[in-house]
Amino acid sequence: MSAPAVPEPRPPAEALVAVPAPRRPVGRGTSNGNARGNVQDRARRRAWLLATFGDGQTCPCHRCGLTLDDSTITVDRIVPGIEGGTYRRSNIRPACGPCNSEAGARLAHERTHHRLTTGLAP
Ligand SMILES: [Zn+2]
Repeated sequence: MSAPAVPEPRPPAEALVAVPAPRRPVGRGTSNGNARGNVQDRARRRAWLLATFGDGQTCPCHRCGLTLDDSTITVDRIVPGIEGGTYRRSNIRPACGPCNSEAGARLAHERTHHRLTTGLAP
């Protein structure tokens, strides 16, 4: 039979360091933000594209000219993300979904070839 555990002596009060309370998460503690920003950022970006490239409600696809609205517009990065392009206003333009995914699936040299042979933006 072992001896009962002796409790450790309590440290003097001046040796205790205040531990800050853990930060409580705001809301549920989750966010839907990513590299494109959160839902408000994305809505503001679409609104800015519609106002800058169109009449505020609609604007044309930069590539095929299809009329886009808030539900159909996609944000096309001029310098694509794979080459370090950001979502700054100087690097975005409106595109329809098919044009945007077509450009994104292409490698850099294919985009250059496409631009040189068709005259269309990548
Ligand atoms: Zn298009």
